[in-house]
Amino acid sequence: MGFHLSFYKPGQFIFHSGARSDRAYIIEKGTVEILTDHNETIHSLSVGELFGEMGVLDQSVRSTAARAKTQVTLLEIKPGQITDRLTETDPIIRALIGVLLKRLRALLPRNNNQTDDLLSHVASVIEKSGLSKFRLESELRTAINEGKVLTVFQPIVDLTNHQIYGFEALSRWQHPKLGVMSPFEFISLAEETDMIIEVGSLVFNRAIDLLSQLPDSIFININVSAKQLNDKQFLPGLSRQLKASDIQPNRLKLEITETMMVDTVMAQHWITQCHQSGFRVCADDFGTGYSGLQQLLSLPFDVLKIDQVFIQGLLSEQVNQILVEAMVSLAKKLGMKLVAEGVEDEQQHKLLKQLEVDFGQGYYYGKAMSKSEILTRSDRLFSD
Ligand code: C2E
Ligand code: CA
Ligand code: CA
Repeated sequence: MGFHLSFYKPGQFIFHSGARSDRAYIIEKGTVEILTDHNETIHSLSVGELFGEMGVLDQSVRSTAARAKTQVTLLEIKPGQITDRLTETDPIIRALIGVLLKRLRALLPRNNNQTDDLLSHVASVIEKSGLSKFRLESELRTAINEGKVLTVFQPIVDLTNHQIYGFEALSRWQHPKLGVMSPFEFISLAEETDMIIEVGSLVFNRAIDLLSQLPDSIFININVSAKQLNDKQFLPGLSRQLKASDIQPNRLKLEITETMMVDTVMAQHWITQCHQSGFRVCADDFGTGYSGLQQLLSLPFDVLKIDQVFIQGLLSEQVNQILVEAMVSLAKKLGMKLVAEGVEDEQQHKLLKQLEVDFGQGYYYGKAMSKSEILTRSDRLFSD
């Protein structure tokens, strides 16, 4: 679902009273007046404010009109973008919104102070809950289309010989005003909509492209979300793409975070499906989730990635060392490989090597690099 900007001249109507409601608006630039049937101004709205949402919510005709007071730029929100979310919310909240809307409509023609108070209260509640998110969502959509969501690759190193064994693909958003944004700030947003599918396929395309230019022994790890794994097209599509590029599926490892494994039956299903397609599966952020250890270890992972909290406290708190030792012994018994994440210094590296952890990832070995950085340095990165 695309986002649209629309533009109005001073004095131009955005909608008339009595018209069918088919969208809401967020003001990006300028001032908008909300008018009664008799063209009396109820109030003026400025940048960042939402209007026209009532009709979108209850699908009724407009009870007011809206007119541009100055040159105006609006971000349009289509009904589906609101109603889809509304149907997913708690039924009690939905009912409360309905009641609130009825009361508002009853109050509106009278145009007294009470109306204004109530309106501004509703507006501020809506604003706090979702407005900035709508804007970010529209910006992310644009960024995906314009190729501003980049993929970088962080080395994963064999602790015994310091050689690069593979990379983890990580997303970055080059935001025009906010600079490079971390996936922590936008992946969850993408996961709430179908944008995660698009971000995911960007990552795969780039990972496959890079794999085709690297030695056969090098792997790439990719983070996948529940939405992707539940998409029936996902694994077959991936297999097709790999085949077309003549790349073995075992060179791609799929990382599933521990929080996604709360439902063990579902997790088991996902892992089986990945294995049937020939992909290896990693338990990401191992040790941080709430799933029971026994349940977790009943899942047939190929790799466990020890979360960075354990590595960062490795030398200061002995309990972390004990935990890592326990993870090594479990992984060995179960035939799984171990990756330590967030390795930042030599002391941590030495201790992890001594504890017989297989692989390491972190700033000590290298930050995430672009494809061109990897390819121009490939002689040095992959030499003996
Ligand atoms: P993650 O999978 O746990 O990825 C590792 C994160 O740790 C990365 O953060 C990486 O830059 C950071 N890191 C690596 N080495 C060090 C270190 O030595 N010290 C410290 N303090 N941090 C280190 P990043 O890139 O910000 O990614 C955040 C999370 O967003 C990732 O956590 C992953 O769960 C998710 N993510 C990133 N890209 C994607 C994507 O394309 N799709 C999906 N579904 N999730 C993604
Ligand atoms: Ca990961
Ligand atoms: Ca991780």
